[in-house]
Amino acid sequence: MTNAPSPASAQGKSLAAADLPTAPAALRIRPEVAALPRYVPGQAMPGAVKLSSNENPYPPAPSVIDEASDAVSLVNRYPDLTAAPVRAALSAHLGMSADHICVGAGSSAVLLAALTTISTPEAEVIFPWRSFESYPIAVPAAGATPRPVPLTARWEHDLPAMLAAITPATAAIILCTPNNPTGTALTLKQISDFLRKVPPHILVLIDEAYIEFSTTPDVTSALPLLSEHPNALILRTFSKAYGLAGMRVGYGVGHPDLIGAIQAVSIPFGVSGPAQAAAVAVLQNTEGIAAGVRAITEERTRMSEALRALGWDVPDSQANFLWLPQAPRDLFRHCREGEVLVRPFPEGIRVSIGTPEENDRALAFIASYRRA
Ligand SMILES: *Cc1c(COP(=O)(O)O)cnc(C)c1O
Repeated sequence: MTNAPSPASAQGKSLAAADLPTAPAALRIRPEVAALPRYVPGQAMPGAVKLSSNENPYPPAPSVIDEASDAVSLVNRYPDLTAAPVRAALSAHLGMSADHICVGAGSSAVLLAALTTISTPEAEVIFPWRSFESYPIAVPAAGATPRPVPLTARWEHDLPAMLAAITPATAAIILCTPNNPTGTALTLKQISDFLRKVPPHILVLIDEAYIEFSTTPDVTSALPLLSEHPNALILRTFSKAYGLAGMRVGYGVGHPDLIGAIQAVSIPFGVSGPAQAAAVAVLQNTEGIAAGVRAITEERTRMSEALRALGWDVPDSQANFLWLPQAPRDLFRHCREGEVLVRPFPEGIRVSIGTPEENDRALAFIASYRRA
C-alpha cells in the first residue's frame, strides 16, 4: 500500500453526500453564513458572445503569457509570500512605496481581508446598493453587518444618505467608483468632500476596479487623497483593464499599518507564482493596455449612442459596461437565444463592452427585441 493519490472513481464509486457518516446539520455553521447570497457568475456558454462578466475581450500580450508560462516551471516551490515582485512593480507604477501596497488573489480577496481587520459582531459596514454583489457576501463573511444604502434615482451613490447612515457601530464604508453595474462614477472632489466628513476611525474602502476606463477628467483615482486620509484604502485589480481576470491578482493601497493588518489576516502565499509573473509583465506593457482601454472606451461611446437611438435609457458609463435601467429580464432571454450573454439584475440589465464584432452582435439582438 502506498499513499499515492487514488481517486474515488478508481475504487469503483464516488463518495456521495449520503455516504458521509455525520449529518452536516450537526455543524454549527454561523446563521449569517448559512443565509449568505451566493455569488452568481456571469453566464458562460461555449461559442457564445460573453458580455456578462465585465471581462477584457482581449487576451494577454505574448510577453505576459511567456513570463507566466516560465513561472509554471517553478511551482513546486511556494511563491513570494506577499507578492513582493508585484508590490515593487506597483510601487514604481503608482509612485507609492511598497509598504503602502498589499496584493491578493483578486481585489475580492483584499476586500475580504480588509473587512476582516475591522469586523466585530457589532460592526456595521455601509455600502451603496445596487452595487458589486461581493459586498453583501463579504461583509457578513468577515463577521460584520451589511448596511446597504440605495443609489439615487440617477443610479449614483447617495453620498448624503451614506453619511446619514453612519452610527456609532459603523466600522467601514465602501465606495464603488465607477459603480458596478451602473457605470456611474464619483469625481475626485466628491470623494475628497466625503472623506472629510467621515470620522477618522471609520475605514473607507474605495473600489476602483474600473477606474482605468474613466474618460471624464474629474473622475480619477483617489490615490492622491491617501496622504490626508490614512483611514482610506484603495482597491484596484488586474482583472479588468489589465485583462488578467483568470489569474486572480488585485491590490490595496493605503497606510502601512492598515496594509500590515490586511497582510496578517490574508491567506499565506495567496497569489501564485505565474499570477505574480503575469502581473509584473503586464505592468511593463502599459502602452498595450492603454490601447486596449482606448478601444473599449470608443466602443462604449458607439454602443451608448446606438442603444439610445433604439430608445433605451443608458446612463453615462465610465466603466467597460453599460447599464440599461428597467430593461426586462426578457431582453436577457432574447439575447441568450442569439448566443449573446448579458447580465440581468432585478433593476436592469448590464452589457459588458466586447470587441467591435461582439458588440455588433449584441446590438443586433437588442435591436430585434420587441417589448411585450
Ligand atoms: C470585477 C470587480 C472587482 C475585481 O474583482 P477581482 O477579485 O479583482 O477579480 C472588484 N470590484 C468590482 C466592483 C468589480 O466589478
